[in-house]
Amino acid sequence: MNTPVIVFDLGKVLVDFDYSIAARRVAARSTQPPENLDAFLSSSRALVDFETGAITRQEFFDQVRNAAGFQGDLREFGDMFADIFTEMPPMIALQAGLRRDGYKTYIFSNTNDLAIEHIRQNFPFFQNFDGYIFSYEVKAMKPEAPIYEALERMTGRRGADLVYLDDRAENIAAGAARDWRAIMHETPERTHAALRLAGIGK
Ligand SMILES: [Mg+2]
Repeated sequence: MNTPVIVFDLGKVLVDFDYSIAARRVAARSTQPPENLDAFLSSSRALVDFETGAITRQEFFDQVRNAAGFQGDLREFGDMFADIFTEMPPMIALQAGLRRDGYKTYIFSNTNDLAIEHIRQNFPFFQNFDGYIFSYEVKAMKPEAPIYEALERMTGRRGADLVYLDDRAENIAAGAARDWRAIMHETPERTHAALRLAGIGK
């Protein structure tokens, strides 16, 4: 077996997020109240289309504007929509330590280009990975097979050579079904322990 590469989910693993922040800000410039916008911004068909690259940010914005009665422009919306993330320092420190120890690390995320643009500009840790697989670029979301295949192609690794951290059970199950060493992320302490048990990290 090769030295494994370590695959990180982004949301709720390296950065926390809260869509209700965006819903409140967008609602303040819209005809609809925040409670009507929360679901649209966090779990609508439009968001899935955006995160699978089926529609552009302009098309996503047009749908939001129509649904919300939003009064601002795309740039204003983009800032409100994307500024919902906060770093999770224990996991960022864990990744930095693995990288110092010589492990290659990758980000593997269901996301969109507004979120990634914001995270890239605001969180320096984000630069320190060997590669990135984003759903909107590969046009498939976890737990669908094509995004896992894209990660295997990018890393040149398969099966137990991939150690994978994610907070969502269905994503972990899809990784485990490909024989990746999949670790369900619940707390930094548990993930640290699981990695040590697998002989990874200190
Ligand atoms: Mg996640």
